[in-house]
Amino acid sequence: MYKAYIISTGTELMLGSTMDSNSVFLSEQLAAAGIKVIGKSTVGDSAEYIRAAFENGVNMADIVISSGGMGPTSDDLTKEVACAVMGSEMIVFDEEVKRLEDFFRRRKRSMPECNLKQAMFPREAKILKNSRGTAPGMYLKKDGKVVILLPGPPREMQNMFSNEVEPLLKQDFPAVNQAARKTIKVLGPGESQVEEMLGELMHAVDGYSLALLAQDGEVHIKITAEGKELLDSQEILAGVLKQIEEKMGKGIFGYDDDSLEAMVGDLISRQGKTLALAESCTAGLLAKMITDIPGSSRYFWGAVASYSNDAKMKLLGVRDATLREFGAVSSETAAEMVRGIIEKSGVELGLAITGIAGPDGGSEEKPAGLVYIALADAGSCWVKEMRFVGGRDAVRILAAKTALDLLRRYLLYGGLQ
Ligand code: ATP
Ligand code: MG
Repeated sequence: MYKAYIISTGTELMLGSTMDSNSVFLSEQLAAAGIKVIGKSTVGDSAEYIRAAFENGVNMADIVISSGGMGPTSDDLTKEVACAVMGSEMIVFDEEVKRLEDFFRRRKRSMPECNLKQAMFPREAKILKNSRGTAPGMYLKKDGKVVILLPGPPREMQNMFSNEVEPLLKQDFPAVNQAARKTIKVLGPGESQVEEMLGELMHAVDGYSLALLAQDGEVHIKITAEGKELLDSQEILAGVLKQIEEKMGKGIFGYDDDSLEAMVGDLISRQGKTLALAESCTAGLLAKMITDIPGSSRYFWGAVASYSNDAKMKLLGVRDATLREFGAVSSETAAEMVRGIIEKSGVELGLAITGIAGPDGGSEEKPAGLVYIALADAGSCWVKEMRFVGGRDAVRILAAKTALDLLRRYLLYGGLQ
């Protein structure tokens, strides 16, 4: 597998004022192209540190790819330093000078002298077009190494990577296309539980590897299969996929780019049903997730954010006696909330969430993270008690996602399987 090293330059990255999202994007793209990222450096706009980062990268990896410091000003040093490290001299490219002059003429501005350096590259370099700015990028192949320089602004960098860099990488690193990949997404079991469920499969040696990624309560199982040819890889992938599907069963909600929200949306609209929500501790978070999906108006009636006891009584008809006897966070209240929302809305399906998001408000008997989720249709009502671990945000996200997942299971299998 080919190895890549990523460098992000920019003093703003050192000060914490800009998050280094470029290296996240590049990591994703390279992994998807079958190139292994072995390290990253983030350095300020200083020739000394940029130089060290490039030397390090060139020593360790086949491909060094950087973003930032390609502008015209004196603090933009990446190209000079990278070329020095590669022992490549820069010359003025006349067609690039013309392009820059055109750029400024069209904007009725005169070109500052310093912009000229954006027209300088090593003779052997490929110049990468920037369709969204003035700074071109560079692709330099020398001594068995490839050095790629991209501009810092994320829109420019991403565009240049997809349009200019990817085709060159495919050409120079043909093995890139050989691997077959798939991601399986599950909700419910945690990362270590998934690992346990997969057992032997985690440590298999015959041509594939698994990586687990936990994200907002979801666990993504990333499979990479590598055979001699793409066809072999696909065959290996199909075999592993089947085994994982057998082990994870109904816990799988989707693959690759699937989102739980979209999967549920698709199911409910295909069944021609409509959903209404009663949300206490999530207070609209689940409604937001559902309505993030375009077209959700077809199957989403709306939500009542019944945060207070008063709202639960006035808007959902939860009984005072229930709240007093069992409390707002109880299976009984969740059930009355969901029946209430079905009755008020007149739709087929209801979900209700009530819980203690924390960090305060818990007790020994009812700790922070305790959440009741109720699902009801015209005839039946199910309530599930969950005990989530995590901060306030995590508990709320887990509560909303778990509610969605219960609905998914109901729509696919009936009941709360
Ligand atoms: P310019 O011609 O705009 O100066 P440049 O290639 O010199 O481009 P920088 O000056 O390093 O790039 O960065 C320009 C802007 O791009 C920064 O202000 C920052 O907002 C954004 N940026 C730079 N590096 C990153 C990064 N690694 N992740 C996210 N954003 C970044
Ligand atoms: Mg700059």
